[in-house]
Amino acid sequence: MKVSQILIDKINSTIRDVHDFPKEGIVFKDITPILKDAKLSKEIIKELSSNLPKETTHVAGIESRGFLFGFPCAMESDISFVLIRKKGKLPYKTVSYKYDLEYGSAEIEMHIDAVGPGDKVIIHDDLLATGGTAEAAAELITSQGAEVIGFSFVVELSFLSGKNILTKYSNNIESLIKF
Ligand code: AMP
Repeated sequence: MKVSQILIDKINSTIRDVHDFPKEGIVFKDITPILKDAKLSKEIIKELSSNLPKETTHVAGIESRGFLFGFPCAMESDISFVLIRKKGKLPYKTVSYKYDLEYGSAEIEMHIDAVGPGDKVIIHDDLLATGGTAEAAAELITSQGAEVIGFSFVVELSFLSGKNILTKYSNNIESLIKF
């Protein structure tokens, strides 16, 4: 993916660093200022959408910031959108996947009929850090017989090497900007 330097610079200058959130030592990349800029938001959606492989049938967005650009990106490409949510939020029958965090564990869910065999899915989130969340999402998608054909992020914290645990699903791991 070749993202224009102008777009990279715009995203960089709009994202806000919040130090020591949610805990000391973490620099939180706050994307909410992007949402105040409709033109920039549209450019991001266009860029993400134009980078979807042609065979993509679904974009799966990870709660909750993965919904912000994931759903418009799917609509822009005339394909389906899937919600991956924290346990207990989805109303219909679900499949779930539990994964380990630094302290404790987390569980994510998806509707049982969201994807199935033959579907080719791109997993999207706002930010790739350690990759644990995207890996859990990929486990959910593949558990239903669908194929993960790539990952898309707005921001990648490359110093955390999250990509390494995702390559077992696909080598197509794209992000608009990297730190
Ligand atoms: P990870 O599972 O470590 O890749 O974390 C990814 C998830 O946590 C994404 O849903 C991000 O929104 C969020 N996240 C992790 N680290 C940060 C950070 N430094 N700034 C903003 N969001 C983060």
